[in-house]
Amino acid sequence: MIMGSIDSIESMGLVDGPGIRTVVFFNGCSLRCLYCHNPEMWKMKEKNITPKELVEKIKRYRPYYQDNGGVTFSGGEPLMQPEFLLECCRLLKSENIHIALDTAGVGTILIDEILDLVDLVILDIKHVDKVGYQNLVKQSMDKSLEFIEKLKHHNNKVWLRQVIVPSIHDNVDYIKKLKKFIREIPHVEKIEFIPYHKLGTEKYDAMKLYNPLKDLPAMNKEKCEELYQEFLKAK
Ligand code: SF4
Repeated sequence: MIMGSIDSIESMGLVDGPGIRTVVFFNGCSLRCLYCHNPEMWKMKEKNITPKELVEKIKRYRPYYQDNGGVTFSGGEPLMQPEFLLECCRLLKSENIHIALDTAGVGTILIDEILDLVDLVILDIKHVDKVGYQNLVKQSMDKSLEFIEKLKHHNNKVWLRQVIVPSIHDNVDYIKKLKKFIREIPHVEKIEFIPYHKLGTEKYDAMKLYNPLKDLPAMNKEKCEELYQEFLKAK
């Protein structure tokens, strides 16, 4: 029987896709982004729910969705549980519920099948060059690039997210490279800059994990907005 490992469900998500959303946080992620604020979801934990059980829970929140809400699969990395994710998408599709996938694009199998069912992909751009990517997430960029290639063969709407980390992304040179990089990504509707914040710090302390950005200040929000304006102007 297909089962999945879910960390938690947020019933009234307002930022992870259009409208009011049920956000399902999957356990398991192979990346180790220096700025990750969900380290408790890195490890794959015991399987605790079937697709049918999850979709039954999700359906309870349906009255909140109105015209444009739905479900967002987040984590962790939802693509780490491809069979479970695919079955959840199939069941949600038969209920006509809007599906968003919040992902770093790091999966192995069934990606095309999942993309066939997902309405919106929210893709986290970690870094635009291979060395910068590897330094930031401790894994090669290949899977993420393969995912972008796959997106070219599907019609999913795409929202892009770029966390702006001081001393890594907060310079005009990077912003210009980012503009060039995302030209290759199809069907992009929206691009968000997320200023690096320190909300995950206490989790690292509680889990006794080394926090590589412990001493780095949060990204200044005004500076982040200025960079976004530069991004809009960049050719
Ligand atoms: S992809 Fe997301 S969950 Fe995984 S390490 Fe990076 S920020 Fe954390």
